[in-house]
Amino acid sequence: MSFTLHGVGVSGGIAIGHAHLVSHVTLEVAHYAVPQIEIENEVARLDSAFNMVRAELDSLHASVTGSAAAEYGAFLDLHRMILDDSTLSVAAKTYVTQNQCNAEWAITQQMNVLLVQFEQIEDDYLRERKADVVQVVERVLKALLGHPGYVPPPLKHDGDSILVAHDLSPADVIQYKRHSFTAFLTDLGGLTSHTAIVARSLNIPSIVALHHARQLIRDNDLLIVDGSQGVVIVNPDRRVLSEYRLRQSQLELEKRKLKRIKTTAATTVDGSAVELFANIELPQDIEQVKENGATGIGLFRSEFLFLNRDDLPTEDEQFEAYRTVARKMQGLPVTIRTFDLGADKNLDSAKRVAVNPALGLRAIRLSLAEPQMFHTQLRAILRASRHGQIRILVPMLSSVSEIDQTLRLIENAKQSLREEKITFDEKIQVGGMIEIPAAALSLDIFMRKLDFLSVGTNDLIQYTLAIDRTDDSVAHLYDPLHPAVLRLVAHIIRSASRAKVPVAVCGEMAGDVLFTRLLLGFGLRQFSMHPAQLLRVKQEVLRSNVPVITPITHKMLKTDDPVKIHQLLKKLNG
Ligand code: PEP
Ligand code: MG
Repeated sequence: MSFTLHGVGVSGGIAIGHAHLVSHVTLEVAHYAVPQIEIENEVARLDSAFNMVRAELDSLHASVTGSAAAEYGAFLDLHRMILDDSTLSVAAKTYVTQNQCNAEWAITQQMNVLLVQFEQIEDDYLRERKADVVQVVERVLKALLGHPGYVPPPLKHDGDSILVAHDLSPADVIQYKRHSFTAFLTDLGGLTSHTAIVARSLNIPSIVALHHARQLIRDNDLLIVDGSQGVVIVNPDRRVLSEYRLRQSQLELEKRKLKRIKTTAATTVDGSAVELFANIELPQDIEQVKENGATGIGLFRSEFLFLNRDDLPTEDEQFEAYRTVARKMQGLPVTIRTFDLGADKNLDSAKRVAVNPALGLRAIRLSLAEPQMFHTQLRAILRASRHGQIRILVPMLSSVSEIDQTLRLIENAKQSLREEKITFDEKIQVGGMIEIPAAALSLDIFMRKLDFLSVGTNDLIQYTLAIDRTDDSVAHLYDPLHPAVLRLVAHIIRSASRAKVPVAVCGEMAGDVLFTRLLLGFGLRQFSMHPAQLLRVKQEVLRSNVPVITPITHKMLKTDDPVKIHQLLKKLNG
């Protein structure tokens, strides 16, 4: 019987193949009493299971290479931290001793304690880490039960297998990666879940939040996965199958063709030159940047160097990371955003859970509140600046006093280096992210004091429309085409262009081909996006004719009727 399932598509494309169902070890463990004389042994069993899992995670860490290493490494570090959390590692042993019970029972009871603690966290992203706690405990249980290290069962249809799981840990995905699945589906996971993040980095069609896929799909069922639409068709009929096969080969052809324009200059039909930069999280991402021919880094989200660890990265450690990127980009611009911590990206040591994190001590506000931490980063960036064309980008500026304080702190960092006779780029450019409506509406002062601007549309939309970008329940209201958003974005680009201040867009809008012509029509000539999006955007640029599209974008700014805006966008992209 053919049926269709709907979930959240996290990575686009079409895959056709056979279902390969996987399941985790059950958490329904036995509970039995352990005599006093055996308690020491039971505690030793727990210790050795923990050590086995530690070794397992370390060896996985060592085996990960290539472009995904950064993200997987971070996930493995997180699992390692959960494993070492005293609520699990120490308290489970105490539980065994106090309750005279078996180790398996003790660890699952302590897992429940930790899960309750996570449940009380307000932050969506952190709450989703509950799944990681379960995955870590599953590993310990497997070690206790004598079969550590999950080895994926052999594939029946190597090359066309689609993995169907209730949930997947990133560590599992590393192992599955070697088995060349063509897509994967999970019952759980949201857009910010680790599974979703890994899925995107693997670049295969993936859908999460399918809820009952694991129950409804049988092993070996024929599946069509449409990652862009978030749709799975189970046991499709011949007509549907041939239609998707055709679409799949068209997409493949398109992908191959796109590679041909890797080194082509991004110039519109009428000859306007456009710069296509890449957004990165960690130095390892440079591989993908090069593969897609980006001509610079428009946004290095440096805060990722601070995540998944107990301590802060030292000045030298940060310097190494920034210098690596600068060197690998061989003189092309590298825009390092100072740490945008707070909101959904918190230090592990952060004690306070803000009532309203997106409006709290985030980004530059946190940097100014923690001047020593900021000073360390600024020195590291400045020291790396003589190894390439580095620029400093400051997130979430909202007022002139923040700009002044920031510039003063940059000058202090420079002075401290001069005193130590450490050379750096004295003329390093300092730019500001425009992602708060207040900044967009008082742009003159930003343009007078800063060398360049970068529009963070993700936050600009969040703050303009008062929609928490991490909250699923209001996700449908997140609208880049809202007249207020369009007018703000157009105003920023137009004002900066008139004042001859370089301006880029580095939010998700820049990587979505639906908006390429719109932004070109507003006058944008510098886009920064995830490297995987770059060639499609370039293709759109190459097909665009600025004199033709500009009048349509002007019309879009004059109306506040959403239907008309959508009609005009269609015409623009037609
Ligand atoms: C943005 O807000 O658009 C942006 C690029 O920054 P981030 O997504 O890291 O907040
Ligand atoms: Mg932002």
